[in-house]
Amino acid sequence: MAALDGLPPLRDVITRYELDAKKSLGQNFILDLNLTQKVARTAGSLEGATVFEIGPGPGGLTRTILALGAEKVVAVERDARCLPALAEIGAHYPGRLEVIEGDALKTDFEALADGRPVKIIANLPYNVGTQLLVNWLLPRQWPPFWSSLTLMFQKEVGQRIVAREGDNHYGRLGVLCGWRADAHMAFDIPPQAFTPPPKVTSTVVHLEPRMTPLPCDPDKLERVTLAAFGQRRKMLRQSVKSIGGEALLARAEIDPQRRAETLSVEEFCRIANLL
Ligand code: SAM
Repeated sequence: MAALDGLPPLRDVITRYELDAKKSLGQNFILDLNLTQKVARTAGSLEGATVFEIGPGPGGLTRTILALGAEKVVAVERDARCLPALAEIGAHYPGRLEVIEGDALKTDFEALADGRPVKIIANLPYNVGTQLLVNWLLPRQWPPFWSSLTLMFQKEVGQRIVAREGDNHYGRLGVLCGWRADAHMAFDIPPQAFTPPPKVTSTVVHLEPRMTPLPCDPDKLERVTLAAFGQRRKMLRQSVKSIGGEALLARAEIDPQRRAETLSVEEFCRIANLL
């Protein structure tokens, strides 16, 4: 890719702009452009697409997305030190890269999308990744502004995203993702693929929104899963006591002796709709 886009190797960029990784910003950079290609290709064809990238850092994934034909990349980066390196990429792809310096958690992505279908691709800072995903899954307006999410997580978080009933990793995140999206883990990335290497294996998760998820109020679903998984080892009759207990379960035709991890997404929605 370095030869393909004519931009300097990422290692040189990092040295030149003194971008030594900051732990506080979850900075673990991918310098191998073959790997960034594999991540970006997980999002499907990028030809002519508008892509939002969170945390571009020195820009390895950013330039890959542009080289793969994205018409426009909007990248939100909190670390001002990365801006000159990103400006260099912007100059190489005139008019196609917009960099917003700021906190992704405070960014209104829907407003930025402005009605365009958007693919979101990111090697997310681990400390904010799950919260961003939840934000993107919770809007009242559905289908959402994004057409796909291709995101990197710690493997354990990826397992929670794709988990379904009966799975040890099944919990609130799995119910929310299963309700509104089709999610799968695409491939793992070992720690040594990053600079500096994190402690754990990462995984790339790809999500597409369900066009017609079961009708359900997100706040009510949250209330049910919070109660049920708050005491996941207990029987439902005990764990959902605060929101209606046995009477609620009877109306939903769910055995009160079952535990949260055995309930399907459809059953959680059924309970939520009775609140
Ligand atoms: N995309 C680059 C790559 O793949 O090599 C860097 C990924 S690094 C894991 C995470 C990036 O997110 C860092 O550049 C970090 O500065 C940035 N970041 C951390 N917290 C952020 C936040 N709240 N909003 C936007 N960017 C953030």
